[in-house]
Amino acid sequence: MATHSHPDLTPGILDELRARLEESRKQLTAEVARRRGAEGVGDRPETDPNTEPRGDMADQSVDIQAWATNRQEDLDMTARLGDVEHALEKFALGTYGMCEGCGRPIPVARLRIIPEARFDVEHAQ
Ligand SMILES: [Zn+2]
Repeated sequence: MATHSHPDLTPGILDELRARLEESRKQLTAEVARRRGAEGVGDRPETDPNTEPRGDMADQSVDIQAWATNRQEDLDMTARLGDVEHALEKFALGTYGMCEGCGRPIPVARLRIIPEARFDVEHAQ
């Protein structure tokens, strides 16, 4: 049984934050799966990141821009899902809410805004 070392995280607050993280994980997992399923077949360099776009650059620039934006959103979403899963693992370890930079408790106000926060404000950069 993990014992949480964060002094301000009562069982009630922990339950609230964990419920929000589990909800985020559910939504992000579904969204990532939906976006992967919605990808065009063969019309984007998705399967091979080294593929250079060919042809008329002027005609393709809009598509490439849209693809790059979409790709960035995918990466952001996947990264956020990773943070959420990581936070849930910290629950199991009893280290949830502790800054991974200095080991000090992350203020509850910050955790309420960003439940998956891995660092306090000082070490967030
Ligand atoms: Zn810190």
